[in-house]
Amino acid sequence: MPNLERQLPPPLAILHELAADLQWSWNHSGDALWHRLNPAIWESTGNPVSVLQFTSDQHLQQLAKDPDFLTHLAQLVAARRRYLDEPGWYQQHYSNVPLKGIAYFSMEFGVCDALPLYAGGLGILAGDYLKTASDLGVPLVGVGLLYQEGYFRQSFDNQGWQQQTYLFNDPGSLPLTPLLDKDGSWMDVATNFLCREVLFRVWVAQVGRVKLYLLDSNHPCNQPRDRGITSQLYGGGTELRLVQEIALGIGGWRLLERLGLEIDICHLNEGHAAFATLERIRAHCVKYQVDFWQALWATRSGNLFTTHTPVAAGFDRYPSELLRRYAGEAALEMGVTMEDILALGRANPKDASEEFNMAYLAMRTCARSNGVSELHGQVSQRIFQPLFPRWPQREVPVGHVTNGVHMPSWAASDSDALWRQLFGDNPWQQNETQLNPARWQELSDQTLWQLASTSRARLVDYARLRYQRQWRHESSQLDCSLPNLHPLDPNILTLGFARRFAEYKRPDLLLHDPERLTRLLCNSRHPVQLLVAGKAHPADKLGKAKLQRWQEFVQRDEVAKHLIFIEDYDIALARHLVQGVDVWINNPRRPWEACGTSGMKVLVNGGLNLSSLDGWWAEAYDPAYGWALGDGGEYGAEQDAADAEALYQLLEQQIIPCFYERDAEDIPRRWLQLMRTSMAQLTPRFSTNRMLRDYLDNYYLPAARQYQQRMDKQGALAQELRLWQQHLARHWHEIHLGKLTMTERAGNWLAETQVYLGGIAPEQVAIEMIADPVGEVPAECIRLQLAYPLTGAINAYHYQGVIPQHRPVSDWSLRAIACHPHAQVPAENPLICWAD
Ligand SMILES: *Cc1c(COP(=O)(O)O)cnc(C)c1O
Repeated sequence: MPNLERQLPPPLAILHELAADLQWSWNHSGDALWHRLNPAIWESTGNPVSVLQFTSDQHLQQLAKDPDFLTHLAQLVAARRRYLDEPGWYQQHYSNVPLKGIAYFSMEFGVCDALPLYAGGLGILAGDYLKTASDLGVPLVGVGLLYQEGYFRQSFDNQGWQQQTYLFNDPGSLPLTPLLDKDGSWMDVATNFLCREVLFRVWVAQVGRVKLYLLDSNHPCNQPRDRGITSQLYGGGTELRLVQEIALGIGGWRLLERLGLEIDICHLNEGHAAFATLERIRAHCVKYQVDFWQALWATRSGNLFTTHTPVAAGFDRYPSELLRRYAGEAALEMGVTMEDILALGRANPKDASEEFNMAYLAMRTCARSNGVSELHGQVSQRIFQPLFPRWPQREVPVGHVTNGVHMPSWAASDSDALWRQLFGDNPWQQNETQLNPARWQELSDQTLWQLASTSRARLVDYARLRYQRQWRHESSQLDCSLPNLHPLDPNILTLGFARRFAEYKRPDLLLHDPERLTRLLCNSRHPVQLLVAGKAHPADKLGKAKLQRWQEFVQRDEVAKHLIFIEDYDIALARHLVQGVDVWINNPRRPWEACGTSGMKVLVNGGLNLSSLDGWWAEAYDPAYGWALGDGGEYGAEQDAADAEALYQLLEQQIIPCFYERDAEDIPRRWLQLMRTSMAQLTPRFSTNRMLRDYLDNYYLPAARQYQQRMDKQGALAQELRLWQQHLARHWHEIHLGKLTMTERAGNWLAETQVYLGGIAPEQVAIEMIADPVGEVPAECIRLQLAYPLTGAINAYHYQGVIPQHRPVSDWSLRAIACHPHAQVPAENPLICWAD
């Protein structure tokens, strides 16, 4: 905030700009500089804004005359200018595409711990996404909420029960700047809630080249209660949640309009922000003087919904009554009834007893949707099946883009150096397919083993430090001395396990047989050490009980040297863990882990994965570089004992022996082969570079093209589509599919049928033969051709097509579906009619 911005000596004035660019959170070339300014504040906050605020004038004056410091500063400034000004990968390869801008909406953003607006994987992904867009030069802005409190900080009481502390997100020391209007005043946006206006102040976080806009309800003009709307991430009850989602979606889109940004793609990171699509419609209605339905047809093609939930119960739902109260006015304004709006959030639009489901709203107002791994894409097709009655599950329109991680954020400096050695200065500012895996053969085993050993040693140092800090705040006033114990060993196999303590992640599976785990860790010939971390949701008693089990277990004297539970899992801790562990363990219950990303963070550093065949690992696993738990089947809690047994066996019989299998030089050749393969093959594939390219090629570009077509010529196409849909809806019941005959012809079947189309024109429907997959034979779909009109009948036709004979006639069914060259079917029109 302006009043806290220090007057810096002129040679250092540029530091304000550097401090405000979150690039320092992944580009560590500035670390030494912040450290020199104020080691204590830098070490404890990792926040350059605080560093500048807490450094004395005297020290600043000294540094302003220090040639070394000034040289380092000049280098950083020059490097940053180059980063910002040089055309990125996107500018080089996508110069002639119709895409103008992408708005990425998310409830959480985990860019770095100095801006704590995240709870877990969803937020970390959003943070990684922005950083990658910046690195690659993709024209994207983020839209989120500024919470007055971050997610809770964790500690434990004497009984090992998790305690939560909520820290105030003091905007005056966050790396944010107020967004100013043209006239110099602080910009705000207004939304209407229950006949009153709520104002949101707007902040900007600069994430390299990308701007993240954050709405903050703590506006001095708001009623006291309203000032707390953005007080906590996932805090409060149903109503506050709804209000937050309105703030994000409606307020967020209003802000984009207000800024006059050219946005063609609205990307919803989870359904929380789905109201943005309604506000986009409203703005469109006003701007082009069209009605709601035409605006829906025009804008929908520019919306993308990414779902992250593996179970239907995970979606946000609201009672209709609540929505009626909050959205009644908006519906009126858009010229539709509240029933029309409610119908968009129901599986069965006519079922008034159904609650309003945000994910359903997103499905209905986005022409494209995707899950976050191959498996999760299929799971999502099952979840969204109710929106597409009578459609085969495999045709439910949800694709997938497997998540990735922003490698520079998770890479240790030593591994980063190896990537640079092989692939040049900016390995992650380009297309990941440039990172040819074969090049990894050039590195000797010694080099790789050196990397693993140094990284492990660094992690051990860090873990000991965290351990000592924990011990201090645990110990009583009378005895503040450190325990007479030096835990961990930099030379032994190091396992990491850290994640949210959610039931499906089975965070106590390793503890299934505590004696066996103890024996495994304390084996004198092949010792093992384990680092554990994770938070349970404050209301999750079960998760807290599992944490307590770990707290009790670590008290055992025998394991004390081999096991540390590190409190307060956050990005910084995750970064240290993934940089130093040999093996990352993940054992969720399939198919509950939509993707999972923590295991991807070890790849760039040479860590190996031992994971359930769930989420990303279900598509990534290969014995050439890792270990898999389970057989890919789906079971309940009854399977836990067997999975625990399998987990112990993998460790005892494969992983530990492999790590300790050494040659005459004491080098574990087989281990290093796994490590090399994992680094070389998996890192590029599970990077956000690959992920963002998938989104660009498979979603953003087709969507932008389609949106452009629907916007051209005063929205003529959108209007045509809307009429097409209305017409089909009115006459669909008039379609009659006649008897199907299949006759042999030249080694094929000739399929023939008569179709009565009633009031529908032939070009508005497609008549298809469809066969389900059977064993190895895939699903097939063959479109029949209109051969000739039936004499003596009105709008009735003979259709026919040639069907190969490799499967029995009984496999085939006949159906009619809606057809238009510019519509997404069935996403935008799920009408379907099967022959009896
Ligand atoms: C990566 C990360 C997550 C997500 O990890 P999952 O394995 O997907 O659960 C959660 N929290 C933090 C701090 C992380 O860094």
